[in-house]
Amino acid sequence: MRVMQELLTYLGEHTTDILRDIETLVRLESPSKDAVRINLVQDAISQMLTGMGTVTRHHHELGDVLHVQIAGSGTGRTVLLAHADTVYNVGAWDNLWRLEGDRAFGPGAYDMKAGIVQAIWALKALSANGMTPTCTVDLLVTPDEEIASHAGRPFIESIARGASAVLVLEPPHLDGSLKIARKGVGGYRVNITGKAAHQGTEPENGRNAIVSAAHFISEVVKLQNLELGTTLGPNMIHGGTVMNVVPDSVYLEVDLRVWSQAEAERVDAAIRQIAPLEGTRFEILDGLNRPPMEPTPASLELLTTAQRIANGFGFNPGAARVGGGSDGNFTATIAPTLDGFGAFGAAAHQRNLEHIDVPSLAPRAALIAGMLLNI
Ligand SMILES: [Zn+2]
Repeated sequence: MRVMQELLTYLGEHTTDILRDIETLVRLESPSKDAVRINLVQDAISQMLTGMGTVTRHHHELGDVLHVQIAGSGTGRTVLLAHADTVYNVGAWDNLWRLEGDRAFGPGAYDMKAGIVQAIWALKALSANGMTPTCTVDLLVTPDEEIASHAGRPFIESIARGASAVLVLEPPHLDGSLKIARKGVGGYRVNITGKAAHQGTEPENGRNAIVSAAHFISEVVKLQNLELGTTLGPNMIHGGTVMNVVPDSVYLEVDLRVWSQAEAERVDAAIRQIAPLEGTRFEILDGLNRPPMEPTPASLELLTTAQRIANGFGFNPGAARVGGGSDGNFTATIAPTLDGFGAFGAAAHQRNLEHIDVPSLAPRAALIAGMLLNI
């Protein structure tokens, strides 16, 4: 335990440096799809880890995927999973960086640049104290988590294969809990086609796509199972042209969230069975994007380890199940995955409000370091 306390002491003494590195990443605003800026973040992360591991960059038009590998003493492999993109456009915030009491505000500070920096400092703390992670560490920073991870996903899945553990550097639950389950997330894009006609002179020749859409929506909502947490949100719709024309097309988007793969499959089969009204057609595209992250015996064992280590550092994270997805959803069926190793804070995705809690940076970085000694 004395060894562990040395880590916490070291990180506590370097809180100002940790905060400075977070500020560096935050000031490099990096909205999804802005490859130039995302690559600057990847450069900065590589720089912060200079001399500590092998850096590989995989080029992608949405921004590079960064992989830093740090050797461990044993044969296993632990993945630290992170993303470099944020949800904010450049210039969206009034101030890029602002300190108020114990809080630091900035775009992407909480989701999830502080998590990345905590991991970097966890590795530095180990190295500075002459310690080596028990497993080889693969830090993977992807460019597009906030927009469904089409670029990152193949790298995420391939690096998770054969790993002893995947620790996701997303923020914890608001009460500090680690995340053991996330809903599967996806959605359907639906094109509904009818036949246009003059509403005054030949309404009988029209096939009203909006009426057919209304029928579709009322059937879709019946597929929800709130007890099981399955939700279907027909949350975006547009269609029709002007009031005196029977509309021939409607476009609809339906958000889907499920706790289990079984529920995803039930919904997917049923939604494709909904019959359109006579003379209209449904074209149903997409479906589940991120599979549900369901707890497994191995992921719950990681939780127990994390709780034991955290207790030694004076905090007591619980276990949370949350509705939002992360890249942990992709790894959970491949390797034991535990999410929420990022910074304590609040107001993710809220302009001018998103922030981290500065005093918790050292203990939460120490938790990551402790995990790397105990997996
Ligand atoms: Zn995130």
